Amino acid sequence: MIAVSAEEIRCLVAVGASLAGVRAVEAARKAGFEGRVTLIGAEPHPPYDRPPLSKEFLRPDHAPEPVVLHGRAELVEDFEAEVLLGAPATGLDLDARTVRAGDADVPYDALVIATGAAARELPGTGHLSGVHVLRDLDDAKAIRLALDDGARTVVIGAGFIGSEVASAARRRGLDATVVEARPTPLVRAIGPDLGSALAGLHERNGATLICGRPVTGLEGTGAVERVHLADGTMVEADLVVVGVGAVPCTDWLAGSGLELDDGVVCDEFLQTSAPGVYAAGDVARWNNPQFDRMMRVEHWSNAAEQGVRAARNAISPTTAAEPYTTVPYFWSDWYGSRIQFVGLAARDQHEVVSGDLAGDHFVALYRECDKLTGALTLNGRRHIMKYRRLIAQGATFEEALAFSRTVAARPRSRGPQ
Ligand SMILES: Cc1cc2nc3c(=O)[nH]c(=O)nc-3n(C[C@H](O)[C@H](O)[C@H](O)COP(=O)(O)OP(=O)(O)OC[C@H]3O[C@@H](n4cnc5c(N)ncnc54)[C@H](O)[C@@H]3O)c2cc1C
Repeated sequence: MIAVSAEEIRCLVAVGASLAGVRAVEAARKAGFEGRVTLIGAEPHPPYDRPPLSKEFLRPDHAPEPVVLHGRAELVEDFEAEVLLGAPATGLDLDARTVRAGDADVPYDALVIATGAAARELPGTGHLSGVHVLRDLDDAKAIRLALDDGARTVVIGAGFIGSEVASAARRRGLDATVVEARPTPLVRAIGPDLGSALAGLHERNGATLICGRPVTGLEGTGAVERVHLADGTMVEADLVVVGVGAVPCTDWLAGSGLELDDGVVCDEFLQTSAPGVYAAGDVARWNNPQFDRMMRVEHWSNAAEQGVRAARNAISPTTAAEPYTTVPYFWSDWYGSRIQFVGLAARDQHEVVSGDLAGDHFVALYRECDKLTGALTLNGRRHIMKYRRLIAQGATFEEALAFSRTVAARPRSRGPQ
């Protein structure tokens, strides 16, 4: 395989017509790329935003349509893109430089892989109706319909998306139970103490949280009726939402020769093991210079920014390529409270610098040795980005504590932004 210089790049292809893929198309045009741009997406829908699917979209008063990133006409007219929707890519030929989609082999000089992640299914649950994951618009519509019918809701997995579904059910006054196999929720994401603190939101808002009891089976005649737990407990359910994580969508790349390892492996420039091929968003595992480690991040802002960076690097590999370095950021909305997290969570190495873990506001900082590595806030949105900047600057934990004291006297913010 031979590297391609900027002048030779006439066709940019983005595979995955969602956040990262759409941002890649936008970025290429905004950077003045005049060649052919093709966007290939597996879903039939025009690209839409996923975070609202587990939040506003589940409200009874929300329009039954998603928040669209760009309509097909806009992509075609404003961005002069060729748009293939409902056309999953099924193969990549690195030597011929083509992507197989439907019956076509779409040629590329530069390729951005943005196929995201798919919700992990629970084995042995596919035979019953009323059991859903929540990853795409069709999932969200089915869940919303069940909530409209007043479903008793059981969420399997106390992660962020499942917790948002439980919150949506409770806001409608419906029974909601969250079942988590581990003794404490969110341990890997934010550590055990802060995981327990957020878990308290479920109980304070009338949802039942059952931890440390794995699900052993679902029962029902046609439709789900009951969830069985390892200790023999049964929970009645009309709707079961499985929220047990996501897996990167790389099946279509198997055998292509591209290096895959829990996602598409990339360097700091988001370039994969093949020249001219880049990856962005939930599917990309890249070397983040900020922490000098390989990461795959399933956060909105990461996908948006990586889509832009990957496209810019792909169209100007020799003249304008820059590494993608970031302090990861995500938010989640539960029961009218906003949770925000920046950086990395070091297990148990944290200090609460504002509010308290049992209340409806706190700011907690994480450390690794003497460095500030992360911050988690509950209804503390005024300061979270300041901590993100401190992490990016390599601030010490002492400096972060000093900063927290300067803001401690100011009135605190409440409620989601
Ligand atoms: C319900 C929900 C709520 C969320 N809430 C938050 C939140 O509050 N805060 C936050 O930070 N993040 C949130 N996220 C995560 C955020 O939405 C994702 O990080 C973001 O959507 C990733 O964008 P992406 O473009 O990389 O991948 P995706 O959005 O997964 O898009 C990938 C696209 O590629 C398509 N595709 C897959 N395989 C192929 C193929 N072979 N050929 C063609 N197309 C293919 C898929 O169908 C999909 O349309 C949420 C995610 C979900 C599902």
